[in-house]
Amino acid sequence: MSEAAGAGDAPDDEAGVDAHAAGPDSAESASTGLDLGSGGPSVSEEYPLQVEGLRKSFGGITAVDGATFEVERGSLTGLIGPNGAGKSTTFNLITGMLQPDSGRVTFDGEEITGEKPHAIANRGLVRTFQIARELQEMTVLENMMLAPKAQRGEALWRSVTPGFRSDVVEQESELLERVWNVLEFFEIDHIAEEYAGNLSGGQRKLLELARALLTDPDMLLLDEPFAGVNPSLERRLLDHIHELRKQGYTFLLVEHDMELIMENCERVIVLHQGSVLTEGTPAEIQANEEVIEAYLGGNV
Ligand code: ADP
Ligand code: MG
Repeated sequence: MSEAAGAGDAPDDEAGVDAHAAGPDSAESASTGLDLGSGGPSVSEEYPLQVEGLRKSFGGITAVDGATFEVERGSLTGLIGPNGAGKSTTFNLITGMLQPDSGRVTFDGEEITGEKPHAIANRGLVRTFQIARELQEMTVLENMMLAPKAQRGEALWRSVTPGFRSDVVEQESELLERVWNVLEFFEIDHIAEEYAGNLSGGQRKLLELARALLTDPDMLLLDEPFAGVNPSLERRLLDHIHELRKQGYTFLLVEHDMELIMENCERVIVLHQGSVLTEGTPAEIQANEEVIEAYLGGNV
């Protein structure tokens, strides 16, 4: 992705920060590291994310076929479905990585269909990204410093005046402190100087999540975030997700471990062949005959 290019995209970044009035972009959250929710998301609508009739074909394959669902504010909602059900494509459509053939995505009451990924991220709707090739040649620390929205200093730097310079230095040290806190939390501070390309699969997942959290999102889309992460770390990550959720952050989680989904999510949406088969509480989903059939019929 174009995070590196986006780093110089000052106007959008600034706008994103401003639009985030109650967001945790403040100096306080900088010093408290992972306490991202100094105020928490402020918009009061019940469903920050609404997806209507989303459709996307690749040649002859209809990957997403009229998917319609909502995600409740402050929830940890699971998006499940057999392999190839369209979960990742749905995430790509929501976050602007792909353009839908038809349908609509609404975030915080505003239609965002067709917006660029960085614009959507600046609204506070963020997904984890695989570390792009150019970022693999940078260190973990550099990856964190280049996370979207982490580099406000750069815009100020261009208009250097004596007053601004001290502001920039202050911001940079706040950012650095915050970066270290996040790295420590994920237990990857000891590899801060390591090239991202040399990390293990699990460590890379942690870096991806750490970068996403650094952008102060209101809502996070996580596509199999625990793949390759050891069980004790997985538990800690889940605890932290729950902690943020209690503060009002919203999560949509794709995960193939059914037990994990059923134990941790309040709501579960089942995607099957690109459309929503059903949705409900974990208990409702587990008792649903159609769901059982969809899974037995597919290769989960
Ligand atoms: P899931 O994440 O639920 O496993 P995906 O969204 O990755 O499913 O894929 C849904 C379907 O779309 C699959 O049949 C997959 O092969 C196809 N698909 C996904 N992305 C592309 C692409 N870029 N080009 C062609 N086919 C794709
Ligand atoms: Mg997928």
